[in-house]
Amino acid sequence: MIKYNLKMGVNNIADLLRKKIGSTKVKTSEEYLLSYSYDSTGIKKKPDIVAFPENESDISNILKIASKFKIPLTPRGGGLGYSGGSVPVEGGIVLAFSRMNRIIRFDEKNLLMEVEPGVITSKVIEVSESRGLFYPPDPASLKNSTIGGNVSENAGGPRCFKYGVTSDYVMAVEGFLMNGEKVKFGSYSIKDVSGYDIKKLIVGSEGTLIVLSKIILRVIPKPESRILIRVGFSSMRSGADFIMKIIRFNLSPSVLEFIDKTSLDAVNKYLQTEKDSSINSVVLLELDGGKEEIANKLNSLKQLASEFGINDIEIADNEDDMEELWSIRRNLSPAISSLKPKKINEDIAVPIGNVPDAIEYISGLADEYNINVVMFGHLGDGNIHTNVMIDPSNKREVENSKIVLDKIFKYVISVKGTISGEHGIGLSKKEFLGYQYSEREIEIFRKIKGVFDPENLLNPGKIF
Ligand SMILES: Cc1cc2nc3c(=O)[nH]c(=O)nc-3n(C[C@H](O)[C@H](O)[C@H](O)COP(=O)(O)OP(=O)(O)OC[C@H]3O[C@@H](n4cnc5c(N)ncnc54)[C@H](O)[C@@H]3O)c2cc1C
Repeated sequence: MIKYNLKMGVNNIADLLRKKIGSTKVKTSEEYLLSYSYDSTGIKKKPDIVAFPENESDISNILKIASKFKIPLTPRGGGLGYSGGSVPVEGGIVLAFSRMNRIIRFDEKNLLMEVEPGVITSKVIEVSESRGLFYPPDPASLKNSTIGGNVSENAGGPRCFKYGVTSDYVMAVEGFLMNGEKVKFGSYSIKDVSGYDIKKLIVGSEGTLIVLSKIILRVIPKPESRILIRVGFSSMRSGADFIMKIIRFNLSPSVLEFIDKTSLDAVNKYLQTEKDSSINSVVLLELDGGKEEIANKLNSLKQLASEFGINDIEIADNEDDMEELWSIRRNLSPAISSLKPKKINEDIAVPIGNVPDAIEYISGLADEYNINVVMFGHLGDGNIHTNVMIDPSNKREVENSKIVLDKIFKYVISVKGTISGEHGIGLSKKEFLGYQYSEREIEIFRKIKGVFDPENLLNPGKIF
């Protein structure tokens, strides 16, 4: 439902914006409206206007106009979200951050970076590494996702098992309230307990509280070296049990990924590689640190593997070989997408000790309802990417996918897990938020939103 002042009309609002910030920064043509109407969920809704701020003053001016005429506004980074966060469900303005993509300052003395929200994640990683430093959060979408999107979703990735998620690297945020007023939360100091930790609240708030204009990120020294290891298992359960052993053993791998049998079959088919029929799950892990530390950990790892009857593990210690071992994981997304026309992509997370049971429970459901469920992910932190693959023209699959998803979410809550480990609630999971939170708790979310955005104009229709 469009809430803005229709008397003004879209063209008049666009003209007002053009006069205020410049005509090249405001677009209303069909090609722009279509290009900014969806994210990776495939949910679509066209905005009425796409605006491209180039600096803070543009953001403030756009917000003041949107707020005055009660026009909904949706910030957008790379549009790679998996929960519909950047889809403008109520129309209005999409605020696209592709032109605010500068690294403002690299402060090596304080191990900090000041960046604009539209900077691509991989650029932050590359610039840090070029100075012998390290920005660990590595969502698989890092070549196209933005830091603004990562901060808003509190993105994670394979390395987050050892190094933590995006919020662990955000020192401070600057941005604008929906009425155009500038606000800052956090500081450049590692320790900071002044007032409420609003910065932490904003990280992961899915673009519903403030519009980010500057983010202060922390970087750490780069580990001296790393190796990648691939271990194959005869069953899904043994792969998941191996992961639990590794966590318990304190090997602290920097990456700990699990790939199930359906994913392996899909990747082999997609890459036209030969399948080893004795392998039904794969664990990929990376060890990093000093050379001696890695050698000691590798010995322990081999010992653990032998307890599972495995004497053959693949080890890569140079970039080319690592890329080769990593290829299964990198090709997972396109490979599983080729299984069925529609992928329902969920990212549940459970307490780590429940991971093996959760995997068994979900594959049991897949068998019971005769439906394709593909599981992989950062199991070290309990995050299981659960992809239900269906053909939307097949009524049985559509119905069964709903039953299976409902049962998965209920199971996750029954073991005190969460319906989303890293993709956020957005549009796609908001009907399930009530499984995790009571009415009263959701009302508290609403009240917090109301403090920042009393008229509910900033990214409306999301989360609750
Ligand atoms: C192939 C693939 C792999 C992925 N792998 C991972 C993964 O490993 N880990 C993971 O966590 N996620 C992953 N994702 C999901 C997604 O990439 C992340 O959620 C990412 O953080 C989205 O960034 P984006 O720039 O595309 O944001 P968008 O999708 O554009 O936006 C995401 C949210 O951020 C808000 N936002 C964007 N910019 C601003 C701003 N300046 N101010 C306020 N709000 C803003 C939007 O309104 C929206 O709510 C993956 C997605 C794909 C397609």
